[in-house]
Parts: sequence; structure tokens; C-alpha cells
Amino acid sequence: MANLGIPRNTIEILQKYKFNFQKKYGQNFLIDTSVLERIVAAAEITKEDCILEIGPGIGTMTQYLAEAAGQVIAVEIDKALIPILGETLAAYTNVTVINADVLKLDLKQLAEEKNGGRPIKVVANLPYYVTTPIIMSLFESGVPLESITIMVQKEVAERMQVGPGTKDYGALSLAVQFYAKPEIVANVPPNCFIPRPTVGSAVIRLTRHPKPPVEVRDAEYMFALIRASFNQRRKTLSNGLSNAPELGLSREKVAQALETMGLSATVRGETLTLEQFAKLSNLLR
Ligand code: SAM
Repeated sequence: MANLGIPRNTIEILQKYKFNFQKKYGQNFLIDTSVLERIVAAAEITKEDCILEIGPGIGTMTQYLAEAAGQVIAVEIDKALIPILGETLAAYTNVTVINADVLKLDLKQLAEEKNGGRPIKVVANLPYYVTTPIIMSLFESGVPLESITIMVQKEVAERMQVGPGTKDYGALSLAVQFYAKPEIVANVPPNCFIPRPTVGSAVIRLTRHPKPPVEVRDAEYMFALIRASFNQRRKTLSNGLSNAPELGLSREKVAQALETMGLSATVRGETLTLEQFAKLSNLLR
């Protein structure tokens, strides 16, 4: 099958199947061989690897993944793409295409079935409308993971990577950094896609920590604290936490915990490190 990273080949297959792009599914297909090569290189794929690709589209990156990996599981929501994938991936016996919404699949069970429960790697050019839910469900579903190498909106990649005190720092930064080490590996301009997205993109690799970098007794509670702290960005941490009914915290209890940690009563959530959130969570739980 012709390399779909070459624009002419992508256009030919889209015309052959009279494919209509679905905006609601975040469909922007890659048409740049050097970007595809960089994504696959950043994922450090070997023939031992089982790769989960979310949203294969017409199979452009899937072809590269199938060449490099032992096996590829590609989950695509749009059923109009399934016959196209049948043609573009016909040469590969190591690819399984599943027509499903990745957020509704039991990925843990899938990894168990396909890879005997050994860690998988996720590689994807993600649909931007569901980037955060997909990343969070990958980390929280308990699926054994080695790394996630993904194309996302440039601002979102930056949010995942930054630390306290910057405007992009928030719940996503803390969640990603709790589970993994983030590294932006490439910036990708809109002209590398068809159709062109209205935003810049970046490839980021999240390498799963063997164990979390902080000690926290109840991670779920810590994330509830983090969400409450960033829900009311302009408020002090103390107001943010005591105004969150789901936490059931009194103003006094929060004040006491902040004092124990040597933090000012007027400190803002966006200045706290992951370690400080972990400590606070252990004190308040
Ligand atoms: N991988 C292809 C490429 O790089 O050219 C396509 C990437 S495109 C940005 C995102 C793909 O994800 C589309 O094919 C879209 O139909 C699919 N998709 C969107 N939402 C999905 C979901 N919830 N589950 C699985 N696939 C989804």
C-alpha cells in the first residue's frame, strides 16, 4: 500500500471512498512523513512492543507503527473509516482494528487479552476535543502502560509540562506529572494536516513513573483537592477548599493544615508543588 504520509496518496484514498471529514470527531489527518517518523522514533518502538493507537483515521500512522512494532491495536470511533482501514492496512497481519469509542472500552481487559497484561505503549494523533479525558482515563483505568506518545494541541502539551507559578499550571499539569515524566518532542504546524487545524500542535511523550514521585495516602482525594484549588483560580487556597462542598472542609481545618505546612493563610493553589498538594492531602484526609 502506498505511504499515506505523502499528501497525494491520502487525497487519492479519500476521494476513492468519498470520505467526509467529521468535525465532531476531531479529524485532522497527518500528511507529513518527517513528523510521522519523529513520532515513531520518540515512542522508541521495538518488535517486542504492543501499541495501542487511538484514532487511526485512514491508517497513516498505523502503517508506520505496524512496521516497527510486534502488534498494533487501533481503536477508531468513525465507522466510515473501517472499510478504508481494511484497504490501507491489508498488508499487515499484526494490526487489529476495533470500531469503538476508546472512552467506552475496557482497556485493561484489552491489554490483558492482547499482551498478557504486560505494559503497552500508546501512540496517537489525538482528537483534540477529548484529549484530557483520554489521557486521564489511560492513567486511571489501571491499564499497564510504559509510555504515551501523542500529538495534542500545543497549549495542552505546555500545560502538561509546566510547574507552579506559571499561568498554564493547573490540574492537568499535576495529574500528568503524578503519573509520568512529560517531554515535548516536536512542535507541528497546521500545514502538516488535512484539513488544517486552527491551532498549533505538539508531540509530547509521557513516560510512566515506576512509582509516583510523591507519597500520598489517597490519590483520589488529592485530585479532588487539586480540582477545587484550581476551580477558583483567583481565590486563595483556603477559600477555594472551604467553599468546595464535596470536600466538607471547615475553614479552621484548612487554616490549621496550612499553618502546619508553614504556608501563608493567603497562599494561592497555583503556587503549590505536587509534593505540597500530597502533604496537604495527607493532613486533611
Ligand atoms: N491517526 C490519524 C492521523 O494521524 O492521520 C487520525 C488522527 S485524527 C486527529 C483523530 C482520529 O480519532 C480520527 O480518526 C477520529 O475519527 C478518531 N476519534 C475521535 N474520537 C474518538 C474516540 N472517542 N475513540 C476513538 N477514536 C476517536
